Amino acid sequence: MDNALYNTTIECPVCSKKFEVTKVRAKTSKVLERDSDFCVYYEGINPIMYDVWVCEHCGYAAQQDKFSEISDRDAKTIKETISPKWHQRSFAGERSIENSIEAFKIALLNLQVRKAKASELAKVCIRIAWLYRIAKDEKEKDFMKFALKGYTETFEKENFPVDKLDENTCLYMIGELNRRVGNLDDSIKWFSRLIGSPQGRQNPKLIEAAREQFQLAKEQLGDAAK
Ligand SMILES: [Zn+2]
Repeated sequence: MDNALYNTTIECPVCSKKFEVTKVRAKTSKVLERDSDFCVYYEGINPIMYDVWVCEHCGYAAQQDKFSEISDRDAKTIKETISPKWHQRSFAGERSIENSIEAFKIALLNLQVRKAKASELAKVCIRIAWLYRIAKDEKEKDFMKFALKGYTETFEKENFPVDKLDENTCLYMIGELNRRVGNLDDSIKWFSRLIGSPQGRQNPKLIEAAREQFQLAKEQLGDAAK
């Protein structure tokens, strides 16, 4: 296994059995580049690939920072809906990009059966989109659309900040994902809303990025009309 990775044993909060997970050592991944929707490229191991833990015994899966946070009711739902169909399988050890996408899709299925909030679905879907982008697979677009639906619903129904997501960043993501999936009119509308919002001034870097992407969407719209 790569030196940047190590295994540790944890206890599953759903089935109470122990299993191994693989973690990335802190500070071994150097950031090379960031896309306009915050997809990060690393030199060395991409920590996002190891972000989801999957219990090999029962099929419970979640992002590692959320793994232990599960209500008794949700644990019961997983035991009744996911575990009976689950075939024992470990996700420990080095992951290929395909394995990491698979782990995220199992986490997504877990969120769906738990009837999770839109913000949680968006967070997982955008990461699946990034992994497909890194794999140069056009399924990236499907997952950007799912993430866009999640962020739009988050904006309409949830109270900010949602986890680490603030209202401005949510608006930015809606603008940028609309642009990336080709909804240029909507992209312009959402970016304008962010640029014109009084609380946007709290984050000048984000507003600057929003202005650039707003211009880009306008140029793309102009090109499309030619
Ligand atoms: Zn389990």
